Parts: sequence; structure tokens; C-alpha cells
Amino acid sequence: MTKKIAVLAGDGIGPEIVVEAVKVLDRLKQDGLDIELEHGLIGGAAYDESGTPLPDETIAISQAADGILLGAVGGYKWESLDISVRPEKGLLGIRSALNLFANLRPAILYPQLADASTLKAEVVAGLDLMIVRELTGGIYFGQPRGVRTLENGEKEGFNTLVYKESEINRIGKVAFDIAQKRQSRVCSVDKANVLESTELWRETMTSLAEGYPSVELSHMYVDNAAMQLVRAPKQFDVMVTTNMFGDILSDCASMLTGSIGMLPSASLDENGKGMYEPIHGSAPDIAGQNIANPLATILSVAMMLRYTLEQPEMADRIEKAVSTVLDKGLRTADIFSEGMTKVGTSEMGDAVVAAL
Ligand code: NAD
Repeated sequence: MTKKIAVLAGDGIGPEIVVEAVKVLDRLKQDGLDIELEHGLIGGAAYDESGTPLPDETIAISQAADGILLGAVGGYKWESLDISVRPEKGLLGIRSALNLFANLRPAILYPQLADASTLKAEVVAGLDLMIVRELTGGIYFGQPRGVRTLENGEKEGFNTLVYKESEINRIGKVAFDIAQKRQSRVCSVDKANVLESTELWRETMTSLAEGYPSVELSHMYVDNAAMQLVRAPKQFDVMVTTNMFGDILSDCASMLTGSIGMLPSASLDENGKGMYEPIHGSAPDIAGQNIANPLATILSVAMMLRYTLEQPEMADRIEKAVSTVLDKGLRTADIFSEGMTKVGTSEMGDAVVAAL
């Protein structure tokens, strides 16, 4: 049966990198991939068109789709808008509307890029880490939130970090299930020494681990985890953590691999439906220049094939094609090093398609 893919390009470099990912999907269609694409607006582009960063039509297209391919949202142009209609609100809104509670962020170092990392090659060579970030709860969604004026006239900003046991259990399950297919080690990251909500996180993860005797669970405070990620990242197999801690740690992990432009992500609901996007943002500083790295978005397509479209061989083919173009020495500016061939966004996309 034909699977429906919603394509939401978004803002900044979003449209440029999504075009390259769509080229890859089109190429795979020639080999029998039975999909139909439907395009929708999100973020600043949607705000400009309809006054909201997440139009109802985009929600409808996404709800009807089997998988969603997203570029990125945001940019200077919309920074002064009220927070309720900023592009980023569209992103949080769609994650929440589709109940995409599990964000998988692999950090894999392609051996060809060991020199592109700011860390020593021996620290990062062979890195293969999966960060599982809770995505629809925690401080980004907790109520109450806002800015109020106190009796003395001073303003006070406030947010609420809240996690239910059920939310911790379901994200924990995702992490343990993935670990069973990898090296069977889960490190749960929290701040249980100072935050009660993450004390509950730790207790719940510990109880959950009893149902997974083959998986080794460890706990780490987030400040230590940030340090360990740059000190000895290969100690980790699967890391599971809260929405905000995962947001920060996964950007940190991205640099271990050389560039934020290399890392895909998947955000899944309870039935395996997913939204697939690069972990980076809309990079307004380089938008429209044909220099953005499209590989994170192309690798997001591979994750879509693996987790939602059940086409693991096609997923493998994309990952192999990316490796092939890196072997050939092709590099976008963000991963460029001496002696390599610098290419633009569209040339990189074309090279992956050719390698397929
Ligand atoms: P960013 O990820 O957009 O950019 C950070 C740095 O990485 C920039 O120097 C950028 O040029 C570079 N970069 C990012 N992607 C790249 C790529 N594919 N190839 C080469 N270089 C790349 O983060 P930021 O600057 O903090 O945010 C810019 C905008 O993106 C903001 O409006 C922010 O809210 C938004 N944002 C959106 C998402 C998303 O849509 N998922 C995520 C993060 C930030």
C-alpha cells in the first residue's frame, strides 16, 4: 500500500536541504519505494502565509501521513514576534499534536570525518551513541509558565519541570528496547540530587530496569554527563534523558561527530509513526547560499525508512551511499578539511543520489 509522507521544509536552510532529501526519495521510488509526498507549511513560512506557525492544514496533512520529513524552522525575521506565534512554536506544536514523545538522536562518527571533530581522533573514533530524549513533557511544556510582575514591580520569569511516572516509563521503555538491539547498556541522565521530578525519573527507570534483566542500567547527573561526553564519549551506548537535558546533550554529542550538519533524528509516537528531521536548526546565517550540509536530512530519510516505512535495506543503502561520497572526499564547508573537494548543498545531494 502506498505510504504517505508529509514534507514540511520550513525556514532558512530547511527548503534547501529538504530538496536534496526528496531527490533521494525520488531515486528510491524508481526502485519500488511506494510513497506519495504531500507538502505543507510550518514555522515562519507558515506564519507569513497564514498568521500561524502551525496551520490546521499542516496538522491534518501530518496526521494523515505515515511519516513526516521536516527541514527546520526559525530565523531572524520572526525573532521579535510574540512567543505564541514564533516559528519554534510550530515545531513544539506538531510534536505535541502527533504525540511524538520519543526523540532518537544517534551520534555516529563516520571514520572519514575523524579529523573534522574538535576532539582528538582517538577519543571519538568508532563513536556510536544513541541519545533517547523525552520530547513532549518536562520544562518545555510544563504549566504554569510565564513572566509575572511581583508586588515590588520586579519582573519574574517562571517555568515548571513536571514528569508523570507514565511519561518516564514510556520513554524508558523505548531506550531499553533500543539498547537490547545494541550493546545492552542504558545510562539514564538526571539531576536527582536537586530536582524532585528527576528523583522520580531515577526511581522509575530503576523499577523499569527490573523488566530488562539483560540490559545494564546506570545513572548519571547531567553535569557529569556533559563532562563525560567530551572526556570519554565511547563509554556510552544508549543515553536516556529529559526533554531539556536531551536538547543540550545531543547538541554537545553532535560536535563529537564533526558537524551538526551530519546528525539525523527521529521523533516517534507509540505506534512507530514518526517525524524525521536533522538535529540542527534553520541556520539563517548560511541560508540561501547553497553551502548547508544536506547529509543530516538525507540520513533522516534513512531513519524514516528503518523505523516507519519498514525498508531497512533501503535505509542501509542510503547510509552506504553517504559513506561512499565521504570516501570520495566530497565535503560541504562545515566538514571540509585540507585535501578534500568542497561541494555545495545540491552537489552533495546529487552525489548521494549517484552513489545510490
Ligand atoms: P542552528 O543549528 O540553526 O545553527 C548553528 C550553527 O550551525 C550555525 O553556525 C549554522 O550555520 C550551523 N549549521 C546548522 N546546520 C548546518 C548545516 N546543515 N550545514 C552547515 N552548517 C550548519 O542553530 P541556531 O543558530 O541556534 O538557531 C537558528 C534558528 O534555528 C533559530 O531560529 C532557532 O530557533 C532555530 N532552530 C530550529 C530547530 C529546528 O527546527 N528543529 C532546531 C534548533 C534551532
